[in-house]
Amino acid sequence: MKDAIIRIHPPVMTACWRCVLRSERCDIERLPCTNCRTAYENGSEERLRCESQTRLTEDVEAAFNTATQIGQSNWILREDQDAFKLTIDYSELAPPLLEAHAVRDVLDFRRIESELNEARLCFLAQFITISSRWGGLYERMTENTLTHAARYQALLYSTEPESPLTEKEQWVILNALRCLLNTRNVEEITGYLGTRDNLAAISSETEPILSATLVRHLRGNWSAHPTIYVTESSGNEPHFFESSETFASLLTSTLSGTQSLLLRGRPKDWPTVFYVLYVLTLVHSDLFNCRGYTTAFDEVRRVIKESLKSLSVIFLSCCSESGLQPFSSRFDKTRYALMLGVDTAHMSVQHYDRHRTLWVKEDRPDEIDDEANEDQFMRILYEYSFGFMCF
Ligand SMILES: [Zn+2]
Ligand SMILES: [Zn+2]
Repeated sequence: MKDAIIRIHPPVMTACWRCVLRSERCDIERLPCTNCRTAYENGSEERLRCESQTRLTEDVEAAFNTATQIGQSNWILREDQDAFKLTIDYSELAPPLLEAHAVRDVLDFRRIESELNEARLCFLAQFITISSRWGGLYERMTENTLTHAARYQALLYSTEPESPLTEKEQWVILNALRCLLNTRNVEEITGYLGTRDNLAAISSETEPILSATLVRHLRGNWSAHPTIYVTESSGNEPHFFESSETFASLLTSTLSGTQSLLLRGRPKDWPTVFYVLYVLTLVHSDLFNCRGYTTAFDEVRRVIKESLKSLSVIFLSCCSESGLQPFSSRFDKTRYALMLGVDTAHMSVQHYDRHRTLWVKEDRPDEIDDEANEDQFMRILYEYSFGFMCF
């Protein structure tokens, strides 16, 4: 069993994944670095490739070239020579309905709460009643896991407010959930638009394609639907939306926060990382659904899939050897508790083991062995994220 490497400072950005995890000096100016080259020449079968930490997010900004966010839920989508303005507006819903049946962003709570962290906790609290907000979207199991993810993020903050982690590491689950809020909004439109041809046809109309409404679903749960407009656009609309609050920026923070958390080499962060990977599969899937009406998010979707794959490689390299990734046939919560130096009732053990328990309870035969690669891991993660075993 590997000993945990505790670092107070974030990993050095100028070293490759492998050297950071092994605390080795890295000459990354040339890839592969000397340490990795020597390991390869000696026949090492490590799953970590020699990868610079900056690689993970360097394509994110460019991926949004065809999808410009000009407001919290306002986008310019570019299709070939055309551009369309997408406006998603919840303002026609009465405030009590919004409070009970929609998910509002941290920015919305900032207008009410003076403290940023209070606003963050208000945002997270909405996921306790997620089935009354995003009802009909996910299986119950997925709703429950989103609730647990938000709870865990809030617990991490309340139990360790003076965390040695950086902001993007400490709030990484929150940022992933804010990414999901962004993609929920752009996915919302899919069922009403259908195909790309409709985008051009509808954009010449002045009526909204959907008027704000409250929907009650089969299980008796609810969701608030916004008013949605699609209009033609010059593609160069002025906008004043804070760039640090955009989906692109939240995605960058989520990806790099997860990477640096993993590269700290602390087993206690694995439940956090697993929740982020879970939420990002839902983000990816929302953008996958959007491909029917627009190609504008194609590149963002590709980058997210590649990044998920990269993060899965680091995650597996950290926890597979000890059999402590939740789909492993060797998973053992007592061993994980021992590794952390806590008892099995500790919140990190409980949250991590919950995935394992659910997976086994549903009699899934697809446990993967410790040699499984990132593709096998991601295939099961997607099944698990969507609660497919509940059908
Ligand atoms: Zn190196
Ligand atoms: Zn290297």
